[in-house]
Amino acid sequence: MAVVNNANTELLDGFSRKIDYLRMSVTDRCDFRCVYCMAEDMQFLPRQRLLTLEEQYQIAERFVAMGTRKIRLTGGEPLVRRGVVDFCARLAALPGLRELCMTSNGSQLTRLAKPLFDAGLSRLNISLDSLDSQRFKELTRTGDLAQVIAGIDAARAAGFRRTKLNCVVLKGRNDHEVIDLIRFAIDRELDICFIEEMPLGIISEHQRSESYCSSDEVRARIAEHFTLIESAESTQGPSRYWRLAEAPHIRLGFISPHSHNFCGSCNRVRLTVEGRLLLCLGNEHSADLKHVLRAHPGDSERLEKAIRSAMALKPYRHHFEVDGEVQILRFMNMTGG
Ligand code: SAM
Ligand code: SF4
Repeated sequence: MAVVNNANTELLDGFSRKIDYLRMSVTDRCDFRCVYCMAEDMQFLPRQRLLTLEEQYQIAERFVAMGTRKIRLTGGEPLVRRGVVDFCARLAALPGLRELCMTSNGSQLTRLAKPLFDAGLSRLNISLDSLDSQRFKELTRTGDLAQVIAGIDAARAAGFRRTKLNCVVLKGRNDHEVIDLIRFAIDRELDICFIEEMPLGIISEHQRSESYCSSDEVRARIAEHFTLIESAESTQGPSRYWRLAEAPHIRLGFISPHSHNFCGSCNRVRLTVEGRLLLCLGNEHSADLKHVLRAHPGDSERLEKAIRSAMALKPYRHHFEVDGEVQILRFMNMTGG
């Protein structure tokens, strides 16, 4: 595989894909225990294994210097990490960064939406899998639906626009709520994205193969109520977008890792909270940036070199399977979903 990276140029992987999007997990912890994401008795990492926010900043700063234009903060739940608002303000001020986004479960937004907006966060994705408070509790194990809906409303009041709801669709659990969720999104002028469950981490709460609900099935359900119009809009990522003739002001996204291979245009890499740079969501290839930072503090050239050589590890595509064995042992909260 040819490595095409030279110093002072954009970041390219071995397949000449331009890497300009970094997803950073700022914590593996979370106040929810969603059944598809975590085991009930999750063991979280000891604090000394985590990158400090200062170390995360140094990595982000290097990526932006190498052409990264978009950063998404995720986790775990990013808003349970202490100092995350100030961290956002520092990242937002990096010259060259165009978008600083966050994926959140919404539980802390009544308190934090305004400070985050003022810190320069550009956009929010908020997870919402059910509008029924009991089912919401079953799916998140600890979540409070009213608090999350208040958080969604607080985001709008704070000034956030183009907020997107993320919904993981599980057969027999929340698939019958798809239309209600779309109506909720239409009323609040939110985009909404339906996600196929991915086999990340070993969970015992359900059989992933039985709960799997394809995006095609979700679209068929939607087509009974709305006129779907396929859209050419793209983020170079896994989402494919559609509009509704009846509500053209919102976008409908589908993340379909099983039924749609989006890898050819992949522009992203992920940083775990332990400082592992993951080159692909569906593969274990990674580079240990924490080691580089701690062995050579303040040496940004060495960090840049490590990032550039990691690009050669980025595989062409992921290989998820629904029925096969779990392929990826790390949980989504470790990965930074
Ligand atoms: N805690 C935040 C949240 O829930 O939005 C951010 C982290 S969470 C890991 C990011 C996204 O990944 C959420 O939308 C969640 O629903 C999704 N997710 C988690 N586990 C998943 C899985 N096994 N398959 C598909 N999506 C998953
Ligand atoms: Fe927490 Fe998000 Fe995982 Fe749910 S999906 S357990 S909110 S990290």
